Amino acid sequence: MSRLERHLRQTGLPVIGRAGQDALRDATVLIVGCGALGTVTAELLARSGVGTLVIVDRDLVEYSNLSRQVLFSEKDAARSTPKAEAARTRLGRIDPEVRVRAFVEDISSENVEGLTEGVDLIVDGLDNFETRYLVNDVAVKHRIPYLYAGAVGTRGMTMPVLARGGAGDGALVRWTPAEATPCLRCIYPDPPAAGIVETCDTAGVLGSVTAQVASRQVTEAIKLLVGDLQHLDRSLWSIDAWTNQTSRLRVRIEDHEECVCCGSRRFEFLDAPPDRVRPLCGKAGVQIRGDGADVDLARILERLQSSGRFERRDGVVHGELEAVRTADGHAVMLTIFEDGRAVVEGDSDPAWARGVLSRFVGL
Ligand SMILES: [Zn+2]
Repeated sequence: MSRLERHLRQTGLPVIGRAGQDALRDATVLIVGCGALGTVTAELLARSGVGTLVIVDRDLVEYSNLSRQVLFSEKDAARSTPKAEAARTRLGRIDPEVRVRAFVEDISSENVEGLTEGVDLIVDGLDNFETRYLVNDVAVKHRIPYLYAGAVGTRGMTMPVLARGGAGDGALVRWTPAEATPCLRCIYPDPPAAGIVETCDTAGVLGSVTAQVASRQVTEAIKLLVGDLQHLDRSLWSIDAWTNQTSRLRVRIEDHEECVCCGSRRFEFLDAPPDRVRPLCGKAGVQIRGDGADVDLARILERLQSSGRFERRDGVVHGELEAVRTADGHAVMLTIFEDGRAVVEGDSDPAWARGVLSRFVGL
């Protein structure tokens, strides 16, 4: 089977052709977040022939993900496989020639510039606005095209971010100053406060809607990668798939010269230190970041063995801390990642989580 045969139906499209297919093969696309949006996006990009995918996600696969996160199976949920690793394995079965780099990391101001280095396009699979604003900062600062997408409930939206002034030198995706678009902060100057916006964890979400929004994001990504800027939808597009309402809001970049990010080029989210301790979204738990140094997972596993049932797999120690119970009698779940990040599930109190971590893990 040749590559030509694999992509026959795509090269047969006049808007792509052989030249467009070659451009896709030469592209590196970063998928930030590999949940409902990210898995559909990653699968469609891999099948379309994008040569290199970089996938970053901080979470492990859970059973509640399976209704919409198309790259994952029951086995991944049973094993609590990190999403980025499970995605890489599955994509390798779909097309072994696609290079997939997987990072089991929490995207923060400390690592985001490293993750975006050498990337031709960033696509959105995130579930929170804080990280989106960080990605928006990086995209504008380094002139990397960024496709924003979000979905919750039965609603979703997409919008491209092409930094003012045009693409950087030698970029694969090129745009002129006249083709630049507003950034996220032009439209929403500040991220909504945590707890105000519904998120997938609290509001529920329909898998067909996340797939629809991801699919639209991929179409726009392909337009950018093959260089068809003319047909890119530059608007803030949104849909409620249940009530059949769609809208396209065309925001004029000229009206937002004062934008703190793309106007004044101040990158407030990128310049801020990451939160060390952050409550998990939608469930009782706390994420605690390490100090930047990798930890010795073998030693941590040994230490935890006497306090519960733990396993080490895929660069993660994960299990139930039977020695500590939550208010309703459940064992506390503990996950330690190679980079020193820890997730303590059972209560949202940061001080309690830090105490558990220090007592049982010594972190
Ligand atoms: Zn802006």
